[in-house]
Amino acid sequence: MSGSILPGATLGVLGSGQLGRMFAIAARRMGYRVHVLSPDTDTPTGQVADVEVNASYDDLDAVARFARVVDVVTFEFENVPAAAAALAARYAPVRPRGEVLHVTQHRVREKAFLRQHGFPVAPSCVVHSSLELRQSLARLGCPAVLKTAGWGYDGKGQTLIQGLHEADAAWLALDSGEAVLEAFVDFDRELSVIVARGVDGSMATYGPMENEHHNHILDITCAPASVSEQICAEALDMAREVAAKLDVVGILCVEFFLTRDNRLLINELAPRPHNSGHLTIDAHVTCQFEQQVRAVCGLPLGSTHQHRPAAMANLLGDHLVSTEPNWESLLSWPAVKLHLYGKHTPRLSRKMGHLTTTADSPAMAKSYVKNARRELVSRAAN
Ligand code: AMP
Repeated sequence: MSGSILPGATLGVLGSGQLGRMFAIAARRMGYRVHVLSPDTDTPTGQVADVEVNASYDDLDAVARFARVVDVVTFEFENVPAAAAALAARYAPVRPRGEVLHVTQHRVREKAFLRQHGFPVAPSCVVHSSLELRQSLARLGCPAVLKTAGWGYDGKGQTLIQGLHEADAAWLALDSGEAVLEAFVDFDRELSVIVARGVDGSMATYGPMENEHHNHILDITCAPASVSEQICAEALDMAREVAAKLDVVGILCVEFFLTRDNRLLINELAPRPHNSGHLTIDAHVTCQFEQQVRAVCGLPLGSTHQHRPAAMANLLGDHLVSTEPNWESLLSWPAVKLHLYGKHTPRLSRKMGHLTTTADSPAMAKSYVKNARRELVSRAAN
């Protein structure tokens, strides 16, 4: 393939958390070198990359130096400033494009993009003050979910409002000049589809995955999701269409609500590997991280065939702070795979790792990872 970035080349990642770590592991396995730009040191990605450059994303000189010595720049999170992506693009291909980040890092722009292209989303209003919040609550009804326009992930910057009387306090607590108020969706379940899209527009999909959240943070993913063939086909079609309309090169996750009357609404987009795709490492021929490498390097995409039903359970700081984790007991589950991200301090809500297993059914896989996680935290190791 002409113009492909081949093994031996150097891949640059902006962002240094667990998604970059698993990307770097996949890339190094395939013979690439990995450089990461990170505001911190000894990061989950930096620990496994060839080079960890410590600089803020606003340090444009550092971004330019970083981009000059890599063959392609990609991301592991979408909140990189547009100026950094634009500058990097002068020195190396940036995949996905900075414009993709610009749309998906801001809920108002993301919703406008989805509406403009006719994708179904929950009713919502843009809000700039507590007065506008009260007016919007009157229009959308309660309960409703107030979300900051920028920097929202894992339920951060998000408040459930049960009644008009909570409006002023919710606005103050959000501490943001711009927000989106969304009608509360009484969903039947949450689904996600992950799309890999290559430089030539070819696509490969995973899912739909079925996701359960706890305190707005992903807790469990099962695949395949127990939904009808029609919903499965609709979710895959819609995700492919979003990826094509956004002109993503790399990975895109589309998160859905499936309503009780069987309609799919798009909740969120993430232009990078996604927590709900972590089980692809152990359950699929090509995982989402290898697929990101292939996509951003202009290589053919790999098979997304799933070997067996699978489930993933997140390990949060919450699971690890209160007691000495019983790793031996966890590892006595012969088919449960442990993934830890190399983070030093377990804090509440912080994603520290995950467990995956495969089994004869998604339900069985889910019970295995949940039981294994329970044993990990149930008593101190001997
Ligand atoms: P988000 O950060 O927007 O993906 O939200 C995190 C989680 O909060 C979602 O996966 C849902 O479980 C829940 N959530 C967010 N928005 C809504 C909504 N409008 N209605 C019901 N639940 C929601």
